[in-house]
Amino acid sequence: MQLRMELGEDFPEIREAVAKLCQPFQGEYWRKLEDGREYPSEFVSALTKAGYLAALIPEQYGGAELPLRAATVILETIHKSGCNAGACHAQMYIMGTLLRHGSVAQKAQYLPKIASGELRLQAFGVTEPTTGSDTTGLRTRAVKQGDRYVINGQKVWTSRALYSDLMLLLARTTPIDEVKKRSEGLSVFLVDLRDAKSKGLTIKPLEAMVNHNATEVFFENVPVPASALIGEEGQGFRYILDGMNAERILIASEALGDARYFISRAAEYSKERVVFGKPIGQNQGIQFPIAQAHADTEAADLMVRKAACLFDSKLACGPEANLAKLLASDASWKAGEACLQTFGGFGFAREYDVERKWRETRLFRTAPVSTNMVLAYIGQHVLGMPRSY
Ligand SMILES: Cc1cc2nc3c(=O)[nH]c(=O)nc-3n(C[C@H](O)[C@H](O)[C@H](O)COP(=O)(O)OP(=O)(O)OC[C@H]3O[C@@H](n4cnc5c(N)ncnc54)[C@H](O)[C@@H]3O)c2cc1C
Repeated sequence: MQLRMELGEDFPEIREAVAKLCQPFQGEYWRKLEDGREYPSEFVSALTKAGYLAALIPEQYGGAELPLRAATVILETIHKSGCNAGACHAQMYIMGTLLRHGSVAQKAQYLPKIASGELRLQAFGVTEPTTGSDTTGLRTRAVKQGDRYVINGQKVWTSRALYSDLMLLLARTTPIDEVKKRSEGLSVFLVDLRDAKSKGLTIKPLEAMVNHNATEVFFENVPVPASALIGEEGQGFRYILDGMNAERILIASEALGDARYFISRAAEYSKERVVFGKPIGQNQGIQFPIAQAHADTEAADLMVRKAACLFDSKLACGPEANLAKLLASDASWKAGEACLQTFGGFGFAREYDVERKWRETRLFRTAPVSTNMVLAYIGQHVLGMPRSY
C-alpha cells in the first residue's frame, strides 16, 4: 500500500484557536498552582468546553472525531504556549481502550459523558511500586466472586486519580504461575472511583518534582461489578499495548511543543541580553546549542507526523510511535538545557518560567515509558537483537 504523508496537513485553525485559549493561562497561573500543588481546573474546563479533550471520540458519542494528527497539534500548541496538558491529556486517549475493546453497552453508557466532560476518565493504573517497568509482573489481583471482582493491590504514580471519576486499571486475574506467557492473565477494568472510595480504595497524593497530581492508589478488598471488565478476561495486556502507540505519539507532540517554547524563548533572550558589549546570541557557544535543538526538533517532528499518519491510516506504527517519543523527548530536553544555559542565573528565577518548563519536560524521558525501555523495544523488535529482560 502506498502511503502519502500530508506533511502540510497542519490544522492552522486549530493551532490559532488553541493558542488563543492558552493566552490567559500564562506563567503566573502555573506558578501559583505549583505553590499549592493544585489542579488547573479553569484551564482544563476551558479545554473541555472548547471540545478539545473530546477530539478523538467519534461523533456518534458526541466527540469531534478528529484524526490523531489533529490531537497532536492541540497538545503541541498547548505546550508551545507555555502551558501544560499533563493535567488532562489522558482524558483524550484513555477512552481509546473503551472505544476499541468495550461492549456496545459500556460505550453507550460512558463515552457521551466522557465527551461532554461530565465524566472524567483520566486515571490510568498500570505502574506498581515493586515491579515498575516490568508491567506483566504486576501484583494487583482481581479475583472473580460471583457477579463481581474483588481487587487487592497497590498502584503508584497514578496521575490525576484525585481528579478523575473513572480509572482504567490493569490487574492480574490469573496467577502468573498458571499462564503460559506472562502477558496472559491480565485484565482491564473501568473502575468507578467515586463508588470504590467508600469500599476500600484509598488515594494518597505523591509530592513530586513536577505538579502532575500524581498519587498512590491502594486497593483493599475493593469490589467492582463484573460489568466493569473491558473486553475478554485475561486479554488486558494486549488492550493496553494497543493504546500505547497513541499515547506515545501524543506525548511526543507535547515534547515538541516544549522544545519550540524553549527554542523561541532562548533565541529571543539571546538577542536581547548584552554582555561584554554584544548580544550573547552572537557567541557560538550560546547560538549553536539552540540551533542544534531546533534541528533535532524539526527531525523529531517528521517522525511524529509519520507515526500519526500511520496511526490514522490504521497501519502498524509501533516502531514509529516509539521513535517519535524517543526523539521528541530528547529534543525537548536538549532545548530545555540550551534555554536554561542561555538564561544564565535568570534561568533559575521562578518568574521566568524556564526552570518550571525544564523540570516538566524532563518527565518525558521517564514517563509514560522511559528512554531505556524504548531503546530496548527498538533493539529487540526493530533490529532483532536479543532481549535484555
Ligand atoms: C510524574 C509521573 C507521572 C506518572 N503517571 C503515571 C500514570 O498516570 N499511570 C501509570 O501507570 N504510571 C505513571 N507513571 C509511572 C511511569 O510510567 C514509570 O515511572 C516509568 O514507566 C518507569 O517505571 P519505574 O519508575 O518503576 O522505573 P523502573 O522500572 O524501576 O526503572 C528504573 C530505571 O531502570 C531502567 N531499566 C529497568 N529495566 C531495564 C532494562 N531491562 N534495561 C535497561 N534499563 C532498564 C528504566 O528504564 C529506568 O530508567 C508516572 C511517573 C511519573 C514520574
